[in-house]
Parts: sequence; C-alpha cells; structure tokens
Amino acid sequence: MRKCDKLAEAKANGFVRYLTGRPCNKGHVCERLVSDRSCVECNRLKAQHKRDSMTVVEKYEHGLKYRHLKTNWLLTDKARISRQQTSQKYYTNNQEKLAIYRKEYNLKTNNFHSKQWKQLHPEARSAWTAKRRAAKLQRTPLWLTLTHHKQIDRFYWEAAEVSKLVGEVYHVDHIVPLQGKTVSGLHVPWNLQILPAKENLSKGNNHG
Ligand SMILES: [Zn+2]
Repeated sequence: MRKCDKLAEAKANGFVRYLTGRPCNKGHVCERLVSDRSCVECNRLKAQHKRDSMTVVEKYEHGLKYRHLKTNWLLTDKARISRQQTSQKYYTNNQEKLAIYRKEYNLKTNNFHSKQWKQLHPEARSAWTAKRRAAKLQRTPLWLTLTHHKQIDRFYWEAAEVSKLVGEVYHVDHIVPLQGKTVSGLHVPWNLQILPAKENLSKGNNHG
C-alpha cells in the first residue's frame, strides 16, 4: 500500500496521525501528522532542541519551566502588577470568607496581635497599652524585675475583674501621673491603684 493511500485513509477516518512504515529523511520509522505530513519523532526532537537552546528567561516567558522562580529579576513589571491585581480581586470578592478563616486561625494559634485575642483579654490589652505609653514617656525603669512586671499586669487584670463584678468601668491609675505638671511618676507597681474610670478621668494630671 502506498503512503498516499494511508494518508487518505487516516483523513477519511478523522485521524490525526498515520503510519506508512517507511523511514523519514532522518531515518525515523514512526507516525506522521496528517496536517503537514511531518515526522512525529522529528517534531519532538526539534521542540527539544528549541527548549534546550532557550535561556532561563525565555523559558519563563514561554511558561515552559522555572515557573517556580519568582525572584524579582524574573518578574516583569507587567507580571508583578497582574499578580497584585489578581490577589486584590480575590480579596475583595472573598472578604467575608477570609475574615472567617482569619478569625479561626487567630483563635487556633492564640495570636495575641489579633482583634479576637484582644477582645477576649481586655485586661492584657490595657496593660499593654499602658506599657507602651509608659515606654514612650520613658517612665518604666530598666531595673524592674520580671516579678514587678507581673505585679503591674496583675493591676490591669484586677481592674478588669472589678469592672465585671461591679458593672462599672475601673481603670488602673498612676498615683503620681506619668506626665505631671511638676513631678512625673514611674510605671512601677507601687505607683499604681485601681480607681473608677469617672474618678480617674476627672483627676487629670493635676498632681503635685
Ligand atoms: Zn523523523
């Protein structure tokens, strides 16, 4: 049977390939493509050669290999912006879903930076805020021991507990204010007291 008969037969059957049994120019005895009568093995070798002669950047741009290389030198501005837009779009479309995931994750990992943790531990939050404020004003002595810090935290915990019991907000107050008009107190256990918020707020920084 002649080559053309095989080709005609394959075409008639709607096949993509046909086999003549005769070697190609390079000596491959294998299938040919119906579309352009090219040798399948030759095509494979040509493609392989092309891939091998490409640089890493060219391969990346063709999406062949090295897709995992996300180093900046490979990322074009276009790719970077496209990535940003995709994730931005995903975020806006799935905000509620992501919020739930985040909440679950924060609770699971006990993430003390999270909103959920701060809601569950208001006393820790106010202790932290006070610590920050005192640190900013440089009113926390460096010689305080761990026990001192624990005592300070205890004040904030107690204020929260008392607030819950009494049903009125209690604050931890600095007996000598951190920012007094004439004297400034320290953020130390013996300069702390628990006061109702009303009283504390009316007191202001009028000490000394
Ligand atoms: Zn061939």
